[in-house]
Amino acid sequence: MMHQKILIQNKIQIIFNYKIHLIVYIHINMKKIDCLRGYAFSAIKVHSPIAIIGGGTAGLNVAAQLVADGHAIPQQIRIFEPSKMHAYQPGWTMIGGGLCDVKKTLKPMDQVLPKNISVSDSAVTKIIPQENQIETQDGGIYTYDQLVIATGISTDFDSIKGARKYLEDSNAPVASIYNYKYAEKMNRLVQEFEGGNIVYTEPPLPIKCAGAPQKIIYLSHDRLNKRGIKTHHHFYKTAGIIFGVPKYAEILTELCKTKQINCHFKQKLVEVQDHVAIFENQDTKELKSVTFDLLHLVPPQTPAQFIAKSGLGDQAGFTQVHPNTLQHVTYKNIWSLGDCSSLPTSKTAAAVMAQTPVLVKNLIRSWKLKQDPLPGYLGYTSCPIFTSQSKLLLAEFKYNSELDETFPIFQSNESRLMFHLKKDFFPIAYWQIMVRGWWGGRDGLRFFKGA
Ligand SMILES: Cc1cc2nc3c(=O)[nH]c(=O)nc-3n(C[C@H](O)[C@H](O)[C@H](O)COP(=O)(O)OP(=O)(O)OC[C@H]3O[C@@H](n4cnc5c(N)ncnc54)[C@H](O)[C@@H]3O)c2cc1C
Repeated sequence: MMHQKILIQNKIQIIFNYKIHLIVYIHINMKKIDCLRGYAFSAIKVHSPIAIIGGGTAGLNVAAQLVADGHAIPQQIRIFEPSKMHAYQPGWTMIGGGLCDVKKTLKPMDQVLPKNISVSDSAVTKIIPQENQIETQDGGIYTYDQLVIATGISTDFDSIKGARKYLEDSNAPVASIYNYKYAEKMNRLVQEFEGGNIVYTEPPLPIKCAGAPQKIIYLSHDRLNKRGIKTHHHFYKTAGIIFGVPKYAEILTELCKTKQINCHFKQKLVEVQDHVAIFENQDTKELKSVTFDLLHLVPPQTPAQFIAKSGLGDQAGFTQVHPNTLQHVTYKNIWSLGDCSSLPTSKTAAAVMAQTPVLVKNLIRSWKLKQDPLPGYLGYTSCPIFTSQSKLLLAEFKYNSELDETFPIFQSNESRLMFHLKKDFFPIAYWQIMVRGWWGGRDGLRFFKGA
């Protein structure tokens, strides 16, 4: 009898030990469990005090500043990012313009994200804001205290009939700087160009860096001029004006006249055929065929669909936040910045640099101090417009297209100094300073200011 009792006790002990081991095993293997989500462990919810959706310019900058400023330890932050590579997209114009190599614009994601940060490499498909819950494509379920949405804006090449086919065909004279592979193709096509019509397009706004469709015109124009190639440059824009800020619009209109670049307004590219681009007039809806020897196209762009589906979007599907505090208008623990936000300013990395410190301060006020956010962002954005292979016009403005210039004497015309700032200094600032959370945009180095 005694013997049986001991045997049962031993069995209970074994089962108990096994359970303890299982729990310990689960704890130390949370990363592996993340990978198994959607299969055996779909009911387990992983909690993170701070969740950031998107590891692009905005998501990375927020994570880096939270860690650099000591507001959070990396283990308190989880980034959701399906892409293995982080892209410095402002460099893609330089690839297409023959000023930069593709390698200088891409780095493995794990080399740029703060060390020891938690990463989920499956795309977010849904947020249930009432339950502070995130769902991912692989079936994962996560919860958060504070959430930052930074998913950018996606390029939709397929919405232009025929575009993808000609972009993918290495022999077809169709390219785009809005993708690094097609930007490399643009560089080669301009190098090999032997003369004729070049057609450049711009889709409906908003797009990322609304100046980029023009930058590639001026860069290509200068390269072909230097080679003495007889070319007719035609710019077809969906909008009715050349640029949204009157001062720069005047300068650019004059530039196009001097360079004999023909601007056609209210024309939207709807289809690409063999050496023919089809445009729709935005007033009359009439279609017009234009023949080309080289076509540079810019795709329409849209925010991630889960934002609207989760009830977090504005009418156009951008995360609806307060323009000065970056806090969601309904859910006080949700924040957004960058291209996927509703902030009514031009979508640029420069804008992200100005938005990040405001978002970080307000998120910390809300999370740690339980205080309301403070208004701090006034819409600052900047668009460095290459006007040739050696000059640049630095456009800087804020909400309502009001000028907000840092170096006014150099910004009333094209400048060589600004060219080198953009071509040589900004990529270094991005890869060496921003990724460490030290870059305050035009405010310079943050650690000197005791940020
Ligand atoms: C050709 C070109 C030229 C440009 N030139 C300039 C310039 O000269 N100056 C300037 O300041 N800016 C420029 N920009 C704009 C600048 O690159 C963007 O404004 C900036 O990258 C925005 O940062 P973001 O983090 O909002 O978006 P992104 O940097 O695009 O990052 C978004 C991230 O979210 C991830 N993501 C998307 N959906 C999901 C999901 N469902 N779940 C999880 N993750 C997701 C994506 O994989 C991506 O990594 C240019 C852009 C282009 C394309």
